[in-house]
Amino acid sequence: MALEPRRTKIVATIGPASSAPGVLEQLVETIDGARLNFSHGTREVHAETSAAIRAAQEQVGRPVAVIADLQGPKLRIGELAAPVELVRGEYVTIAGEDGAHPDDLPVAPDVLGSILQPGNDVLIDDGSVRLRVEKVDRGRARCEVLVGGTVSSHKGVNLPGVPLPIPSLTRKDIDDLQFALELGVDYVALSFVRTASDVQALRTLIEAAGSTAHVIAKIEKAEAVAVLDDILREADAVMVARGDLGVEIGAADVPLLQKRIILRALERGKPVITATQMLESMVHAPEPTRAEASDVANAILDGTSALMLSGETAIGDYPVEAVALMNRIAYAVEPSLGYRHEIPEAEEQPTIGQAMSNAACDIAEALAAKALLVPTFTGRTASAVARLRPRRPIIGLTHHKHSFQHMALEWGVTPVHIPQAADVEELWATSLDAARSTGIVEAGDRVVITAGTAVNMPGTTNVIKVDIA
Ligand code: PEP
Repeated sequence: MALEPRRTKIVATIGPASSAPGVLEQLVETIDGARLNFSHGTREVHAETSAAIRAAQEQVGRPVAVIADLQGPKLRIGELAAPVELVRGEYVTIAGEDGAHPDDLPVAPDVLGSILQPGNDVLIDDGSVRLRVEKVDRGRARCEVLVGGTVSSHKGVNLPGVPLPIPSLTRKDIDDLQFALELGVDYVALSFVRTASDVQALRTLIEAAGSTAHVIAKIEKAEAVAVLDDILREADAVMVARGDLGVEIGAADVPLLQKRIILRALERGKPVITATQMLESMVHAPEPTRAEASDVANAILDGTSALMLSGETAIGDYPVEAVALMNRIAYAVEPSLGYRHEIPEAEEQPTIGQAMSNAACDIAEALAAKALLVPTFTGRTASAVARLRPRRPIIGLTHHKHSFQHMALEWGVTPVHIPQAADVEELWATSLDAARSTGIVEAGDRVVITAGTAVNMPGTTNVIKVDIA
């Protein structure tokens, strides 16, 4: 019986719960991406995790894309001797870390005094604590507590609608980036992207370091939503970072924005990851709520390339169960996905590769082919095929290790690492052998191959071949 691959990819955030002995190995059997969150954890731990993921992927023989998630320009509560209890109706003073008095709430980096105005909201810990600025005096802001709660060291601070005078890549991000690139990560995610030039700046640093890592722009600010198309043009992938997005624009606007971001990414053929609170109750419970199961299902129906788990796998009590549950939901929902071929064209003229991909999907559908085989240099042709969300599984074949890793996050694509072919005949034969090795295709199955006759030259896809495996 041929294997039916899951089309929607799963990314797990790795943390203390998932790096425990034996757990990571179990996760790697199912996940397609592993996120190292540089807002937390030490470098030593990230290095160990990255090495363990690579070792586990060798065992299972499937790529797992390693994603370094940089903190970006995020404000955080500074060091507190002990957690502080804030009570609704009372007042608290917040101040930049350096100028904070002993009873103030310190915030880093030290920019508050120059940007806050009376009436601004200050949200702490994903909005679970809410303050309103009453007055600002010499860098210290007296605030009324609108929603109380406990505040501890390093909790995130959001100032919705207040432009932050912090560079898109902080000193910490640049240092973390160098470290992550030395680990050989496959993707770098940038938090709180505001403009397309934030993405360009990151890409310039990645290229200068000689890395092939791809850039994921995390969409979590109103400023980014306003220039989404520009950001999508620059980024290799995007993330609907619903946690901070919900804090910045309000939870009520997140569902439709999620659909809009996914659709825009789909139009451009860029992978999109839907993230945060997908199975949140599984941090402490072995079963999700029905609402969470529906949320995962709806993101799949929206066409997301990947689903991401955060606290569920990083610090939860049931990391393996959360991944297994997500996997089950995907298998339950995906058969209902139609042949979504009628995606609006992106504004630019289609490339030859895109037109060939289009035709290959139609032929595969008409012939009920077992799979679409896509030999690809950069992974771009696999993206062009994935963009059409065909019903037939896509097997992306490449001799480039980095393209093999990148394709792990591409919707519907099973990446296979093949030897470099000398000519197109050899490429056809190698591709058929490799496709059979995945278990998706069995000897005698009909397949459709789309590739370039000028092998080893990117951007030269020019033939479609119907063949028998
Ligand atoms: C988010 O805010 O939804 C997100 C994915 O980012 P982080 O987990 O880094 O807060």
